[in-house]
Amino acid sequence: VEILAGGTRIIEMTNKLLVSLKVLIIQLNPQIGQTDQTIKRTWSILDKVARSSTYVKPDIILFPEFALTGYNFHSKNDILPYVTGQGEGPSFQLAKSVSEKFRCYTIMGYPEQAGEQKLYNSALVIDPEGKQVFNYRKTFLYDTEENWDCGENPEGFQTFPMHFPKCAKLPHEKSFTRNVTLKSSIGICMDLSPYKFKAPFNHFEFSSFCVDNNVELILCSMAWLNSTSITGKQVLQNDSLLNAAKDKIAFGLKEQGLPLSGSHGVYQLKIGDSQHTSRVPSENCTSDYKNMDEPDMTNVNYWMLRFFPLLYYKARTKWFRDSSLLESILAKSKMPLDHQYYKDERHKEDTTDLVDSEGTIKDALLEKTFLGASLRQPWKFKGKNAVLAVANRCGIEDGTTIFAGSSGVYKFNGKETDYLENSEDTTLDSRNESVELLGNLGKGLEGAILREVQFEVSR
Ligand code: GLN
Repeated sequence: VEILAGGTRIIEMTNKLLVSLKVLIIQLNPQIGQTDQTIKRTWSILDKVARSSTYVKPDIILFPEFALTGYNFHSKNDILPYVTGQGEGPSFQLAKSVSEKFRCYTIMGYPEQAGEQKLYNSALVIDPEGKQVFNYRKTFLYDTEENWDCGENPEGFQTFPMHFPKCAKLPHEKSFTRNVTLKSSIGICMDLSPYKFKAPFNHFEFSSFCVDNNVELILCSMAWLNSTSITGKQVLQNDSLLNAAKDKIAFGLKEQGLPLSGSHGVYQLKIGDSQHTSRVPSENCTSDYKNMDEPDMTNVNYWMLRFFPLLYYKARTKWFRDSSLLESILAKSKMPLDHQYYKDERHKEDTTDLVDSEGTIKDALLEKTFLGASLRQPWKFKGKNAVLAVANRCGIEDGTTIFAGSSGVYKFNGKETDYLENSEDTTLDSRNESVELLGNLGKGLEGAILREVQFEVSR
């Protein structure tokens, strides 16, 4: 890699390392007030996973947002019995035991209380020795969080290192005997959406952050809704409309023999098989809450779109030819200008990967992307790899909020797929071949999916 810094050419020697990571995702339907039952089911899922004939030891176990407590808290008083400080409480205890038992990282969403007053929607990271090594707080909040005074992550999106012993090798080597440290980021559900649903859709704040900062492992803990959920304010504030809408959901569930809270204890296990998820365009799928063992492809397609900067998109080369266009855009900001991120001047510290020989000069602008393009190249992510693991809860709360499940593992392969050479557009959904869909659970069942994913990193 050649880097031009202040007129001096610096030749960086980089090696390609092939990494093999085994990712286990647990999909749960936690109901508020039933933490103990949820913990029991978690252990019975983990027990079935470990006894499966195709089981291999995972390197990471990823749980959903608010994995044990349930999600739809309506007030601060509602949530207070469930919040915990760091290093204590049922979520920490379970994650620690899971890490110790499986000798791997565990990531789990939980409601955090920091000090006397502050509440956050957080995810804890426990290392294979059972020690908490990171705590991420949700940066972009969803409407529900406002009901209970949740604070925004004062740090904004973050990266942290994860160490994987004996998970890497040089391309010509036979077995994975080398250690690798991966640059990782956590996104909690709404982090993937436009800030407050108000920022321009195309800011792609979280996924741009990942590309700008060369994140290699993206871990998403989610409580993402199926689109047949009741979310409209007009309906929620009108009793007769609300009851009619709830009746419709209840009727749909009854037809399928499911209770109002959705399915519990019917487990779907996809352990170490290699069944990929079919690439289905949204036109050809329904968001109806049916076929519980099949992924909600409307959501899967939407998540892929939210990772636009990591997807191949043909038209980027055209923007690049008119570089003044990119330059003027890249000089501008990607988050709303009144965002804390800019007030704290953190945009100046971010994107600091480019270091000169003395380790001092850092050029953020060259690495910063707009819709995946940087000043240096049309598609900054070209030729790189990143792994995305999504743990999304399932089940229903309040008879109104249906969660979409569909947890899965993805690999962004950084390839310019030329199969579409003659067409003007590139599809920006699960059909885009620069993303590999290594497998998904269904929308409505609890369970687990384990995938080995092999990908390249530069070192
Ligand atoms: N954008 C997400 C959704 O619509 C937000 C939900 C969440 O943050 N839990 O489902």
